Amino acid sequence: MKKIKIKNSGIFVGEKLENVKNFMPAKNVMIITDVNVDRLYGDKFPDFPKIVLETGEEIKNLSTVEKIIRRLIDSGIDRHGFLLGIGGGIVSDITGFAASVFMRGISFGFVSTTLLSQVDASVGGKNGVNFDDYKNIVGNFNQPAFVLCDMDMLKTLPQKEIRCGMGEVVKHALIADAGMFEYIEKHYKKALALDKDVIEHIVYNSVMIKAEVVNIDEKEQGQRKKLNFGHTLAHALEKYSDISHGEAVAVGMMFAAKISSKIGLLDENTVVRIENLLKNLKLPVTTNVERLLLAEAVEKDKKKNDKMLDFVLLDKIGEAVILPVTMEDVKKWVMEF
Ligand code: NAD
Repeated sequence: MKKIKIKNSGIFVGEKLENVKNFMPAKNVMIITDVNVDRLYGDKFPDFPKIVLETGEEIKNLSTVEKIIRRLIDSGIDRHGFLLGIGGGIVSDITGFAASVFMRGISFGFVSTTLLSQVDASVGGKNGVNFDDYKNIVGNFNQPAFVLCDMDMLKTLPQKEIRCGMGEVVKHALIADAGMFEYIEKHYKKALALDKDVIEHIVYNSVMIKAEVVNIDEKEQGQRKKLNFGHTLAHALEKYSDISHGEAVAVGMMFAAKISSKIGLLDENTVVRIENLLKNLKLPVTTNVERLLLAEAVEKDKKKNDKMLDFVLLDKIGEAVILPVTMEDVKKWVMEF
C-alpha cells in the first residue's frame, strides 16, 4: 500500500475495502453506494446503515442529494457524523457534495471502486452534481478525509469502464508526464488486462500527477485548469450522446490535440501517436454527433468567461498550456473537427 497526500486528504493506493473501518469513526456513519457495488461487495462493507443509489448520470442531481439528507436526518446522523461513499465517480461526487452541505459540512471518505474514480473523480476534492443540462454545475471544493483505492475491486469492472479510466490516465500523462505516456504505450495491453504491477503503477503515478497539480492550485485558479484537458468538448458530447465520461474525454483530447497542431504547438506525428494510443486502448477518437449541436453546447459550458475560454492545449507530450481563446474560434474548430 502506498500513501499520497492531497492537501489534508490521504490517498491509499492498494488498501483493501475490508480495512476501511480503521480509517473512520466507529459510529454515526452512513454508507452511500450504488446497486452494482452493493450487489458485488455489500457483504464486505463495514456494519453501518447504507443508502443504495441507482446508477447513471441522471441520478447525479439535487433530488438524490435531498433524499440522502432526509435519510441522514431520519437516521439521527448529527454534525459529528461521517459519510462513507463506496463506488465510482457518481457515488463520490454525490457523497462529497451531500456531506459538504449537510449541517454545514460533515466529514466523509471514499472507497473508490472504478479506475476512473481512483485516478480522478474521487481524488482532488471537487464534489458536484448536475443541474438541468449542466454537468457538475452545483458543487464545491472539499477534500475527503481519505480515499482507499482497492485494486482487487477493479477486477469486476466491465472492460468498458477500464478503458474509460485509461482515458483519464492518458490525460494525466499528456498534460504532465511524458515518461508515463511512454509507459502506457508500452504496457497498454497489460493495463487493460489489469496486470497487478502495471495497474498499480498507473494508478499511483496518475494520482501523483493530480496531487502535484491540486496541491498548488486546489481551487482551480490557474494550473488546475490543465486537468480539464479534453473536457471542453467532452462535456458537450456527454450532453448529446450516450457516451461515457472517459470515452468523451478521449474524443475531447483528440480534438484538443488537433487544435494544438493546427495553431502550431504540436507536430503532426505527435497527434498520430496520441491517436494510436487511444485507439489501442479501444477509446473513441471522433464522434458523429452533429457539429452545430456540439458548438452550441461548448458555448453554454460552465467554464465560459464572457466571450473567452481558457482552452487547454498541448505544447508537447507531458506539457500542457492554458490559452485564452475566443468562443468564436472554439466554435469554428468544433465545426471543422
Ligand atoms: P460510475 O460511478 O457511474 O461507475 C461506472 C459503472 O461501474 C456504474 O455502473 C457502477 O455501478 C459500476 N461499478 C462501480 N464500481 C464497480 C466495480 N468495482 N465492479 C463492477 N462495477 C462497478 O462512473 P465513473 O466512471 O466511476 O465516474 C464518472 C463520474 O465521475 C461522472 O459523473 C464524472 O462527472 C465524475 N467525475 C468527477 C470528477 C471530480 O473531480 N469530481 C472527475 C472526473 C469525473
